[in-house]
Amino acid sequence: MIEAAMIWNEPNNKSHWDPEVDPEWSLYADMVIRAGDAIHAINPAVTRVLGGMSPIDPHWVERMRGHGALAAGDVVAVHGFPIDWNLWPIKAWPDKIAEIEAVVPDKPVWVTEVGVGSFGAEEVQVFGVNRTAECCDATAHAEIVTLRNGGKAHGEMRIEGSTLYSTLQPCGMCTFASIWAGVSRIVYGAGREDVHEMYFEDRHLSTLDYVADAYKDDLELVGGVLADECAELYFRPGDDVPEEDQAND
Ligand SMILES: [Zn+2]
Repeated sequence: MIEAAMIWNEPNNKSHWDPEVDPEWSLYADMVIRAGDAIHAINPAVTRVLGGMSPIDPHWVERMRGHGALAAGDVVAVHGFPIDWNLWPIKAWPDKIAEIEAVVPDKPVWVTEVGVGSFGAEEVQVFGVNRTAECCDATAHAEIVTLRNGGKAHGEMRIEGSTLYSTLQPCGMCTFASIWAGVSRIVYGAGREDVHEMYFEDRHLSTLDYVADAYKDDLELVGGVLADECAELYFRPGDDVPEEDQAND
């Protein structure tokens, strides 16, 4: 049984409605009025849903009101994809709903599509590559460079709750630096057994095992993600690495 009908999906999304053809959305408004009336004539019990607009835009709602189209809908719907498409933080959802409620206090606001990208927008990502040789800096591992970039981008030393992604299991220095930086999750590809021994401090005790135990309440460690693909980036355990190429950087 159909309980509600949405009149066009994301009508203010410029890839879903052509503003060159209809710059004022007046053709759209005319269609909404005709469709809304037709739906009501056939079955007045069906809820007519205007939108869902994407982006969430109170000015576009005002424009619809100006065209007389709001009366043809029973509900105003919004779509929101914080962080990724919309570039606003997830905590802004109540504000976004309030912006629409402020311009249509007489109708319910429905959220008919939601999502968060599994990989954040550039605004919430920072990257780093190893710069030890270039900077004559033994601490400039890719993870440390990334934490520095993250701190600068965030405007403070700690980047609380962030996730650090690394192609190779981080060394002890980088793992501890992550804890100091407030990182709550480390996801890495290849483990130390997947690559040549020169990449890791040759000790019988794994710093990662120690951290996994001592900081289990603060830091989640996830290893082996695309491990083979990541290991391809490094010399492998059996490789005969020339002396001049042997470096832990
Ligand atoms: Zn490191």
